[in-house]
Amino acid sequence: MRILVISDIHANYTAFDTVLGHCQGEWEFVWCLGDVVGYGPDPNECVDRLKTLPQLCLAGNHDWAALDRLDVRTFNPDARRAAEWTRETLTEENTRFLEALPVTFVIGDYTLVHASPREPIWEYILEPMVAALNFPHFETPYCFVGHTHQPVIYKMQESEGNAASESPHYDEPYALNGERQIINPGSIGQPRDQNPDAAYGILDISNGVFEHRRVPYDIRSVQRRMYDYNLPERLITRLEHGL
Ligand code: ZN
Repeated sequence: MRILVISDIHANYTAFDTVLGHCQGEWEFVWCLGDVVGYGPDPNECVDRLKTLPQLCLAGNHDWAALDRLDVRTFNPDARRAAEWTRETLTEENTRFLEALPVTFVIGDYTLVHASPREPIWEYILEPMVAALNFPHFETPYCFVGHTHQPVIYKMQESEGNAASESPHYDEPYALNGERQIINPGSIGQPRDQNPDAAYGILDISNGVFEHRRVPYDIRSVQRRMYDYNLPERLITRLEHGL
């Protein structure tokens, strides 16, 4: 069984469609780690496409913002404006789809969350120390997270109670080896690791192998739609810088 592992589509249909084309025929099921909407111009198109796939999807903080489940005053003004636009734009049916998303899911050797095992909606795992604090909060060998929009692998170091981070080696199969790990596939629709290409991963469960991938997409066409909908300038320009 091969899984397409994706996160943080952020209403960027062009990036989502490009990723699905890039790995066509390479997977049987999709794990989506949340933030399907927010920031980007295509919330309904992204939810509609996701619904056609065999998938399991989790809730992210931007999905909750679009549902009015959290106080958007905690967002910066640009993110807040995009969240309000998203809420008004989502169809009734797609709002109901987002409402039904779980916050965590455990399947076999894998725990899935949007942000972190101990704070599934909110916490950013941006450094090994924070990763180390999260290992006691899940029981499976492996945990997939999104939220930071930065692809990475954190490994638990049992002897020191610490964790080490490893940058992804794109297009190279990475053996999971049974060591406890927290893996972030990166973001499809708004990468923030100074690489504007859409990020995703392919997990081969039978062989215990994960592969990080990147693929360029037509950023300009997404930016044009964002201008058309009057979305905040900073959200438009950041796409081309991967920030
Ligand atoms: Zn996000």
